[in-house]
Amino acid sequence: MKAVAPQTGTLIDPFGRAVTYLRVSVTDRCDFRCRYCMDEHVAFLPRRDILSLEEIDRIAGAFIRLGVTKIRLTGGEPLVRRDVMWLIERLGRRVHDGALAELTLTTNGSQLARHAAALAAAGVRRINVSLDTLDAQKFAHITRRGRLRQVLDGIAAAKDAGLHVKINTVALKEFNEDELPGLIAWAHERGFAITLIETMPMGEVGADRADQYLPLSVVRERLEKRWTLDREEFSTGGPSRYWRVAETDGRLGFITPLSAHFCDACNRVRLTATGQLFMCLGQNDKADLRAVLRAGAGDAELEGAIRAAIARKPKGHEFAISRHRIGGKMPRTMNVTGG
Ligand code: SAM
Ligand code: SF4
Repeated sequence: MKAVAPQTGTLIDPFGRAVTYLRVSVTDRCDFRCRYCMDEHVAFLPRRDILSLEEIDRIAGAFIRLGVTKIRLTGGEPLVRRDVMWLIERLGRRVHDGALAELTLTTNGSQLARHAAALAAAGVRRINVSLDTLDAQKFAHITRRGRLRQVLDGIAAAKDAGLHVKINTVALKEFNEDELPGLIAWAHERGFAITLIETMPMGEVGADRADQYLPLSVVRERLEKRWTLDREEFSTGGPSRYWRVAETDGRLGFITPLSAHFCDACNRVRLTATGQLFMCLGQNDKADLRAVLRAGAGDAELEGAIRAAIARKPKGHEFAISRHRIGGKMPRTMNVTGG
């Protein structure tokens, strides 16, 4: 495809895609140790390597000037980072002044009861909460640390604060596959959309991915025996495809990074907690924005480094999976890149 020249104020990649969505991992740390995400004895990064909240705010500001209109904070667990509300309030001002169309976060929900009202006041309108099971024992098993009650209370607090909640559920073979219809019904009864996610081959977590992998094509076939699923055209430019469940009148998404290609409409890049900008979740090329900042770069230089990175955004990712083999495996875990 022909290269497209950058326009002022917009980030256009070599394939003509406008980058308008930044995902930021504000920490690699987490109070859970989900089995598909992290090893039990994960070594977290030294604090000096992690961007300060002020550094994140500067980088986010540069992206906003370059046309980014949506920012998602993730991690690790974003709400365990000390003083993260300072950053959320700073970025929230950009929602209030109209520069950002959306400020959102992906959270495990453990700290939501404490923060829900402040998030809503800051300008957050919707959040994604990860929840793989409604069985307290299974929840403790899969998260290794989490308590289901705390997360359910957090979700209830978010709803009470007026936040739109979307549930994210990783579909795991022989773990929650029988429970998925129940989880979907539970979410829809409360007015929450729910998205099912296939496991992705991100880093070593001490488990065999092919054992956990449950193709969502199989899940959908099973759900279609129970319910009528109507395809919705709604899209966020990401790997989610959406259906409406006629019987529950709720939205159901499927994220299938391994079994379907979604790269053509990709509008996003990811900033890690250490300031590395990944132009594609499934590729290793990155730009070190922390080095640029810590070398004393001014705003113009920082914007130049971001433009140069976007000019290298690849066409697509290299994940591939079969029942017996997982190819295109990435050396980083999700908590480092930011899920
Ligand atoms: N701690 C927050 C949470 O759990 O929502 C945010 C970070 S977490 C890395 C973001 C999302 O990535 C979660 O929904 C989690 O279930 C998902 N995730 C983590 N590891 C994954 C993997 N190997 N494959 C697919 N999804 C994964
Ligand atoms: Fe933590 Fe989220 Fe990873 Fe679970 S999926 S260990 S909650 S970062």
